[in-house]
Amino acid sequence: MHSPDVFASFQPAFAPYEGTDLPVHSPIDGGLLTTLRTHTKADVAEAIERASVAFGAWRNVPAPKRGELVRRLGQKLREHKERLAWLVTVENGKILEEGRGEVQEMIDICDFAVGLSRQLYGLTIASERPLHAMTETWHPLGPVGVISAFNFPVAVWSWNAALAFVCGDPVIWKPSEKTPLTALACQALFEEVAAEFGAPDHLSQVVVCNRHAAAAMIEDSRVPLISATGSTAMGRAIGPQVAARFGRCLLELGGNNAVIVTEKADLAVAMPSLLFGSVGTAGQRCTTTRRVIVHRSLWDRVYDALSENAARIAANKVGNPLDPGTLVGPLIDRASYETMQAALASARADGATVRGGQRLLEDVLPNAYYVAPAMVKVARQSGVVCDETFAPITYVLPYDTLEEAMEIHNAVPQGLSSSIMTTDLREAEYFKRTSDCGIANVNIGTSGAEIGGAFGGEKETGGGRESGSDSWKQYMRRQTSTTYYGTEAPALAQGIRFDV
Ligand code: NAD
Repeated sequence: MHSPDVFASFQPAFAPYEGTDLPVHSPIDGGLLTTLRTHTKADVAEAIERASVAFGAWRNVPAPKRGELVRRLGQKLREHKERLAWLVTVENGKILEEGRGEVQEMIDICDFAVGLSRQLYGLTIASERPLHAMTETWHPLGPVGVISAFNFPVAVWSWNAALAFVCGDPVIWKPSEKTPLTALACQALFEEVAAEFGAPDHLSQVVVCNRHAAAAMIEDSRVPLISATGSTAMGRAIGPQVAARFGRCLLELGGNNAVIVTEKADLAVAMPSLLFGSVGTAGQRCTTTRRVIVHRSLWDRVYDALSENAARIAANKVGNPLDPGTLVGPLIDRASYETMQAALASARADGATVRGGQRLLEDVLPNAYYVAPAMVKVARQSGVVCDETFAPITYVLPYDTLEEAMEIHNAVPQGLSSSIMTTDLREAEYFKRTSDCGIANVNIGTSGAEIGGAFGGEKETGGGRESGSDSWKQYMRRQTSTTYYGTEAPALAQGIRFDV
């Protein structure tokens, strides 16, 4: 592994958590990075108790002052951007450029939250009764439980935490067991900022644990919001657990994102987005382009161009994600590779044409899972095409009319990101109205999003929205308040007379 000095610089952050329970490997070469102890259910319950105490203090700090803490966090992240990006790449396997992009998203959401800290606006509502004043105000909610996935090991925490902190809420973070080190690194940076600022203890905590211990947080009504990012299977498991105690859930789950390429597409604009969306991040983004739905007249051309470019990448651009020339790093682990191969076998059995998908660099790196991105030409959407396989597999399908394209587009269980490539305004507007996804783009791909917009999706993607726009409202409690300021006994609601 490169840069042992950088890794050593994180040792103080890891040291308090070192143990024998959880080995952490780098997907770059399969090597062991370190071994951590994990938290038990009882440890998680204690973290909730500490967070409840922190809430009692933090909720009373004025919101713009809370924003000052987040401003300093953003500044700290700027100072440590390069080494944190390096750790993201080492632990997760995304290319360094994308590691930097992920840390930049953390900085951006901090900036957004600082502004927000002076704009947690409520409403003044016209009362139907004389001499009554009605308002709607927003109040801190309580400790927020954040569960994050391996593929955005640090950004997801910041999307939640920056908003939660300005809204007056502590955060308990359960990172993926595959990427706990980046969480511990963020926690250490946060603690430096919190100490300089004089924030209450335990405003942010990390629990390194499996799903059984995490249940302590999911089932505890002292944690009014669980914000969980991961697979649809995870959301299906925890959603009912949180609902059973009438808690709030913000679910950010799997996607099966499609790009529609119409006859009117400008292919010079479309092709780079299609390629990056399909192949970039080794297909391990929730917004990865998994389906390309192409007008039949362009079906062969688009498939050939995508598979030729994917083959070129496989030939010399798949490899160590720390190397500047690399465009695609490894899959996270062996299980991910096996799931990919099973999906390709299933597509072949259904009569699809598969190019790519084979394992690469096995001779030199037997414990790492690098693959050639797979392009799959398929005449109809069925079977495995409707599933999210978290690997670089792109299904390229034909359509004849735009109505049919939209039917194909919407006929999957997930509803995260979608896109149309067209130069025709009517096609673009029809697409935006008809796509059932949380994100609908025109002439840009499905992959990635800006923090200023609300991010999330419909159907089995879970319905949650986080990051920009008015997502902050989920981290607060809404209150409607009516004041009577007259001197006579007030009129009763609904005009009821209650004379005795
Ligand atoms: P995963 O579901 O295996 O794990 C995600 C997190 O949930 C981990 O921390 C895991 O420990 C935890 N978890 C899983 N089951 C749990 C349970 N029953 N109780 C408590 N915690 C549980 O997902 P992953 O493999 O880490 O990430 C990939 C998935 O995440 C993909 O499906 C991807 O689309 C999705 N994802 C979605 C978004 C989004 O914003 N919609 C963003 C990133 C990733």
